[in-house]
Amino acid sequence: MMDYKNYIGGTWVETQASQANVNPSDVSDVLGHAAKSSAELMEQAIDAAHQAAPQWAASTPQQRFDVLDFVGSEILARKEELGRLLSREEGKTLPEGIGEAARAGQIFKFFAGEALRQAGDRLASVRPGVEIDVTRSPVGVVGMITPWNFPIAIPAWKVAPALCYGNSVVLKPAELVPGCAHALVEILSRSGLPDGVVNLVFGRGSEIGPVLVESDKVKAISFTGSVPTGRGIAAACGQKLKKVQLEMGGKNPMVVVDDADLNLAVDACLNGAFFSTGQRCTASSRLIVTEGIHDRFVNALTDAMKALKVGHALEAGTQMGPVVDERQLQQNLSYVEVAAKESGRVIGGERLNRETEGFFMSPALVTDTDNAMRINREEVFGPVASVIRVKDYDEALAVANDTAFGLSAGICTTSLKLASHFKANAEAGMVMVNLPTAGVDYHVPFGGTKGSSFGSREQGRYAAEFYTTVKTAYTLP
Ligand code: ADP
Repeated sequence: MMDYKNYIGGTWVETQASQANVNPSDVSDVLGHAAKSSAELMEQAIDAAHQAAPQWAASTPQQRFDVLDFVGSEILARKEELGRLLSREEGKTLPEGIGEAARAGQIFKFFAGEALRQAGDRLASVRPGVEIDVTRSPVGVVGMITPWNFPIAIPAWKVAPALCYGNSVVLKPAELVPGCAHALVEILSRSGLPDGVVNLVFGRGSEIGPVLVESDKVKAISFTGSVPTGRGIAAACGQKLKKVQLEMGGKNPMVVVDDADLNLAVDACLNGAFFSTGQRCTASSRLIVTEGIHDRFVNALTDAMKALKVGHALEAGTQMGPVVDERQLQQNLSYVEVAAKESGRVIGGERLNRETEGFFMSPALVTDTDNAMRINREEVFGPVASVIRVKDYDEALAVANDTAFGLSAGICTTSLKLASHFKANAEAGMVMVNLPTAGVDYHVPFGGTKGSSFGSREQGRYAAEFYTTVKTAYTLP
């Protein structure tokens, strides 16, 4: 059993460990206990990051490359082991866990390369003889608050660019998944980073999160989590005029039109709605289907959904693991109930018993819904998708855009004209044609519009916007 200690100023700090890390596939399997840190410990981590910031800001591209490349290589070499840990503590299937671990490694590799490619602009001034240089500088200490659904990839996609662009870090991972954050920081602790550049603090978000958000020594906050927490963080950062980046919920539409390839559409929706137990902010939760294909689509998706093997995340053959915890399971079931009360026809969506005691449920499809129903307005964050029948593409697009969110939007069609129109007119940060709404590459920007995201994009070269500040220098030689 592990004791997940805080990592502050280059030292693993003994703290009273009290938060159990429980396997959602088998509650008798406790992986370890995480530190429950005080506000004072969070202050110590912030101080350590603040002290280390100038040294790392002055590091060379080669030093940054070496650190990031080391971390990426080790994660990739250990992807099976880390993927297993991930699946054990979060509940996604083993192939999904290994895939996520590999992704974390690839992210570090990508930013290792980016560390060598930091270029600025040199322009002629409008004034004779004057030269202009536009360069990027580190922001300073960046605070990171991460959720439980991607326990290694999300910390990776925040930490890697932060280090690439010369910042120091305080990471506060989600309470439910201390193991992956601990493993990641353990690798970072051997990467050659100066002490204090990366710090890890476990604890209750509501207690130590605000310390990180409000500290004057923390210059930027990158947050992924729920809408209410995100709004609170944005307000606090606004008061402090602090840089902030939020990734929050989704209610992602997948449009299926009459001319779609039925098998492809069913596969995309099955994946988008139910893989990773639907616990992805990019999950396809509103399936908007035109009437000519509606019945065939619903029948085929129902058959495919019922055939999904739900079970222990580490068991070979499992296609959908458990829900992350009892609270989330109850929330999912209550949304299914609400949908049924609002006259939706529910298929699946029941608690399941398996050999081990865990948080299992069957995937749920709610048909005969309209877009005004709660099931189509609020994010469930579980294996629950609804079907909305529409007349034609125009109505489908209008329904797709009629939402407070705007993370990912998909369409299944064989028409180039409709695909092009949808790409141009879907109100979302990411648009998918004949692909699930979830499942993105690691080297291109990630983020949404409307209530889904706030601030500049994460990942790819666009990450530089958040992790740097721009300086324009004028010289008269
Ligand atoms: P979820 O409901 O998916 O767990 P949360 O927004 O509650 O989403 O949690 C996402 C992250 O935000 C977690 O790391 C959590 O500990 C942290 N968090 C929760 N409340 C606060 C808060 N008031 N201030 C800062 N961070 C918080």
